Amino acid sequence: MSDLKFDINTTSLLQSLRLDETSDDAKTVLGLVEGAMKAAKPKAMFKEAFIDETGDDYVVIDGIKFSSRVLRVNLGEVHRVFPYVVTAGRELEEWSSGIDGMLEQYWADQIKEFILGAAYNDFITRLTAAYGLGTTASMNPGSLEDWPIREQTKLFSLIGDPLTGIGVELTDSCLMVPAKSISGIRYATEVTYENCQLCSRENCPNRRAPYDPLLWEQRYK
Ligand code: SF4
Repeated sequence: MSDLKFDINTTSLLQSLRLDETSDDAKTVLGLVEGAMKAAKPKAMFKEAFIDETGDDYVVIDGIKFSSRVLRVNLGEVHRVFPYVVTAGRELEEWSSGIDGMLEQYWADQIKEFILGAAYNDFITRLTAAYGLGTTASMNPGSLEDWPIREQTKLFSLIGDPLTGIGVELTDSCLMVPAKSISGIRYATEVTYENCQLCSRENCPNRRAPYDPLLWEQRYK
């Protein structure tokens, strides 16, 4: 998918940067947004995959074994999943690499984050509609101790060749390049799930759900 929508809500962006809309800094940010929107070509790659086998703390999907108790429990009775990688794209990385000044680079980084978020939302909306998934949730390797980041290599193998497909590759420590990318497994479920519910990290700016200290015991032990 290379035609993802990625409109930025500039009011939210300026609020997140704590900038007054009438300030000179805000004008600079809006100029950067214009440049970013012209440069950006976010993309997504995914596949429809099926669960072959499950154990207490693993799931085999299209022949590839993923080790995670949380993934195993969350997939419960699910038989079909959608592994994916969504990226803000190399074009946007190249755009931001030409920006001077620490403050401007920070603003550019936030703009890239907003573009990735918008593209990701569009991808999820389109995936859900195309496959009639109803409510869905995602799990992402590396976001919980239970599903370590080294499992990214398996996820990438499952999807195919994200480097050739959409320009995303993994470093030796399994981080994605470009960094403004999201990988995971999406699945249909009636049960509300966010990785953040199991993550006790304080003051995380990206938290999407409150930490539930009892959830591990109640649902996964
Ligand atoms: S709270 Fe932050 S670090 Fe923890 S899972 Fe959520 S987004 Fe990730």
